[in-house]
Formats: sequence, structure tokens, C-alpha cells
Amino acid sequence: MTNIFNQKKGFCWKYRKYPFLLGLTCIAILVVFWVQPLNAQRDDLERSLPPLQAHPLPLTLIEWQDPKNSGDYFDKISLSPAGYLIWSQFPIKFYLDRPTNLNDPAAASTRLFLQWVDAVMEAITEWQDFLPLVEVKDPKLADIVIERTEPPLDASFDPETGQLTIPRARSAQTNYNFYLTQDNSPILRHRMTIKISPGLSQLSTLSASRHELGHGLGIWGHSDQETDALYFSQVRSLSPISVRDVNTLKKIYQQPTRLGWKLP
Ligand SMILES: [Zn+2]
Repeated sequence: MTNIFNQKKGFCWKYRKYPFLLGLTCIAILVVFWVQPLNAQRDDLERSLPPLQAHPLPLTLIEWQDPKNSGDYFDKISLSPAGYLIWSQFPIKFYLDRPTNLNDPAAASTRLFLQWVDAVMEAITEWQDFLPLVEVKDPKLADIVIERTEPPLDASFDPETGQLTIPRARSAQTNYNFYLTQDNSPILRHRMTIKISPGLSQLSTLSASRHELGHGLGIWGHSDQETDALYFSQVRSLSPISVRDVNTLKKIYQQPTRLGWKLP
């Protein structure tokens, strides 16, 4: 097919080039007036958030050494709008779903629930060597909430193709949100929510919890090596927490963040 905009002569070009040029001018004007307020908004946001500062490294990570220099995957870690997702108050408080009705501990549903709790607790115990964690009974007081539930299927609409994409079912998922503490001088903090499917085997629950807790503790990215717990395909990775996982965690905690600091 010939492109009408390449035809220098003839009816089409003669009458179409004006709307075309007008269109280009309009786009240029829009870009100039759009980008300026966006930049201004970003600057305003920057000014209203706490400045980027590093927190003292927790003792567990100060003591962590890797004499073999096994490397890390720090370059795969994404930044949140508030910087690295670093906890600064220890121990980190977590809430874990537990069965409420223990009248019949032998019931199949209760047994499965208890197995799920055991697997998640095992993953928590593994991470506790590197960052201190403590369980709380009230989810409202928790930094990390761990729910025994099926992660939602987040459908997305692609404006290019006009198609609705429904991803494959996931077995586990971690999300975060930000909030301000209710003090005279509010502090910017974050909260993590981890959803782990009730329908996994005990081994898969352990590996999914280990992987998602890595995200919950701040490793917001994936390794491309199967031997790391944060390997991008958590279903296939049954790896324990690796030296590279901890090297990455330590490097993240050495970075500045806006989290855990007072608003200006
Ligand atoms: Zn992941």
C-alpha cells in the first residue's frame, strides 16, 4: 500500500498535509503545556515527601559477611515512589492468619490450615537470621500482613489492542501501600500484604512464603538464577535463601529511602 504522506503531488497530499501539520503543531503545544505541570507536580511531591536518607544498618546485616564474594542481583531491584522499601523499626511486626476455630483440631480443614501456618512460620524463621521479626495478634498493628487466601486475578485492559488480558492464576502475591503515622510530625511508612494460596502443597507453601517474604522485607525484584529464593519463577524455585539473596538484601538496606522519616 502506498503511503499518502509520501506522495508529494496529487490530491491526497495537497489537501491532507494541512490537517497533518496542524495536528503536529497541536501535539507539540499539548506536550509543552502537559509536561510543565507534570514536572511541577513532581517537584511539589518531592518537596512534600521526606528527603532521601539512609537508616542505620540492622545488626544482623552488619554481621553478615560473604568472604567468597558470591555477588548479588541489586541491579534488578525496582524503586518505589518512596525509594527502597526498607524497614527501619525492629523487630518487624507481622500478622499471620491462623485458624480461629480449634474445637476440632483433627478436622481436615483445620489440619490443612495448621500445615499452611507451619510452612509460613518455617519461612519466617529462615529470614529471621537476617532481619528480626515478631508476630502480633492485631493485623492493624502489623507491618507485614500474611493472609491465607487466593491472590486476585488482576485483569488488565490493553489500550493498543483493545483486548482484556487475564493473567494465569498466581499462587502468591505481595503488595505494598504507604501511610502517614498519626503524630504531630507524621512519618512516612509502608505496609506489606502477602497473600498465599491455601491450595498449595506444604513444600510449595514454604517456597512461596520464602519468596514473598523476600519481597516483603524489601527485595522488590527478581533474580535470574534458579539457586536464589527470589528467582523470578517462584513455582519452580525451591531454593533456600542464598548468599546472593542476603547480599542483595544487605545492599538494599544500605540505600537511602524516604520511608521511616518525618515529613518536611
Ligand atoms: Zn516474586
